[in-house]
Amino acid sequence: MLNPVDTDFIAALERDLPAEAVRPVTPGYLEEPRGAFQGTAGVVVTPGNVEDVATAVRLANQAQVPVVPIAGGTGLVAGQVFPDGPLPMLLSVERMSAIRSVHPSENVLVAEAGAILANVQAAAQEADRLFPLSLASEGSARIGGLLGTNAGGVNVLRYGNARDLCLGLEAVMPDGQIWHGLKRLRKDNTGYDLRNLLIGAEGTLGVITAASLRLYPQPSQTAAAMMSVRDPAGALKLLSRAKQRLGDGITAFELIAGQGLAFLAKTMPQVRLPMDPSHEWLVLIDLGLTQSMNAQNALEELFADAFEAGLVSDGLIAQSETQRQEFWNVRENIPIANKLVGAISSQDISLPLSALPDFIETAYGAINARGSYRINCFGHLGDGNLHFNIFPADGATKADHKGEKPEIQKLLHDLVHQMDGSFSAEHGVGRLKVDDLERYGDPTKLAAMRAIKTALDPNGIMNPGAVLRYSISRFT
Ligand SMILES: Cc1cc2nc3c(=O)[nH]c(=O)nc-3n(C[C@H](O)[C@H](O)[C@H](O)COP(=O)(O)OP(=O)(O)OC[C@H]3O[C@@H](n4cnc5c(N)ncnc54)[C@H](O)[C@@H]3O)c2cc1C
Repeated sequence: MLNPVDTDFIAALERDLPAEAVRPVTPGYLEEPRGAFQGTAGVVVTPGNVEDVATAVRLANQAQVPVVPIAGGTGLVAGQVFPDGPLPMLLSVERMSAIRSVHPSENVLVAEAGAILANVQAAAQEADRLFPLSLASEGSARIGGLLGTNAGGVNVLRYGNARDLCLGLEAVMPDGQIWHGLKRLRKDNTGYDLRNLLIGAEGTLGVITAASLRLYPQPSQTAAAMMSVRDPAGALKLLSRAKQRLGDGITAFELIAGQGLAFLAKTMPQVRLPMDPSHEWLVLIDLGLTQSMNAQNALEELFADAFEAGLVSDGLIAQSETQRQEFWNVRENIPIANKLVGAISSQDISLPLSALPDFIETAYGAINARGSYRINCFGHLGDGNLHFNIFPADGATKADHKGEKPEIQKLLHDLVHQMDGSFSAEHGVGRLKVDDLERYGDPTKLAAMRAIKTALDPNGIMNPGAVLRYSISRFT
């Protein structure tokens, strides 16, 4: 049974923590980017070091008070907000934002959980290295949240997701014990992998306080191109051709529907569109090369080859870094344009690469058979990850489709499941997708997850209701 934060609990925090680490609750901590959930909290704790995190969690465990870890607050599945239940302690790692050390000869950087991703990237760059995790929220998202959700982003194709970029962790377990796992090793076969359990656990198994992160050499050249393809099958053929020619040099391969550009033209006319929205499908290819090959020439040759093979009909190769950034600006503003148009339902799904064209065709067919909608399908095609978002037809509003969201979501997630895909590719489960995990999750895996949760957090204080359903005294 969990208890709400009360005056005795706050008094214990104030007794054992420095004054600046215990704060009243302010509205910013209770919001999430999509505005679908409103959080609650009884107190906000902002520790400045791992010992203070341990103290706060130990007190919460003793009092059986829920603990909700929060980093940048940009999570899209409401893992960082607690809408109902006994008032929790919000544990924000925002004051633990130091880059503890950089080891260029090892290609390793050690950062605290509150370090903002853009600052970690900058610290790596200062050491002439690359920290390749990159996503549109990088100006706000912090290492603790990025690892907590195992974030993906635009460079997964080449460098992997957050999990692949983490070598070691320091964390506070639900009983308040500190785990000193901040190793900088690439090989360490010493039993169960606690690091990989905590990564992607969305704050349900402990609080990450610091991480040692993998760095890479800076690419000596970068280049980007936008090309129009006939359909997603054509985009996949282009990806395969590009991989054959350029291998790991391809850092990103993004699919963009013309609908996305049309939304941008309508809602954000200040964003310059390099290609015409009348193209039904486009891809954005980004290259990062360390070898002597000229990146711009490589893209020109790829385009010429693909044009001859009938795979692309039009294309633009960035002539400068400014133009490359302009291409990315288009890609990164699509989610904002989506928000301005107002989606009925948004999906973050992944599929085996070869099943993608079939999925897209079947899903478009199924949605169009329901009625009149606009679909904006875009995403990290190279990773098999699509954002498949459904909007009202031109002239209609979300209110005209009231109550349809769960049906549309089920239709699409059922299809993803039939095709051996995932209903959550990179955003996590949080509180938004607990039902989906119960519906589509493998029963053996779910039983193991519940057993792990109960073993590590017998009082159930860590982020109750996220990932696994919380019911009074046990996780179901
Ligand atoms: C504009 C925009 C673009 C985005 N693009 C992408 C994208 O391309 N790819 C992608 O994967 N995501 C994307 N996201 C989602 C989001 O940025 C990521 O999920 C990010 O990893 C969340 O980091 P955060 O610091 O904001 O975490 P928060 O939102 O604060 O927390 C997220 C989860 O992690 C837990 N958590 C927080 N701190 C800790 C900690 N110290 N220890 C343990 N658990 C913790 C929280 O309890 C919560 O469950 C995007 C979001 C926005 C708003």
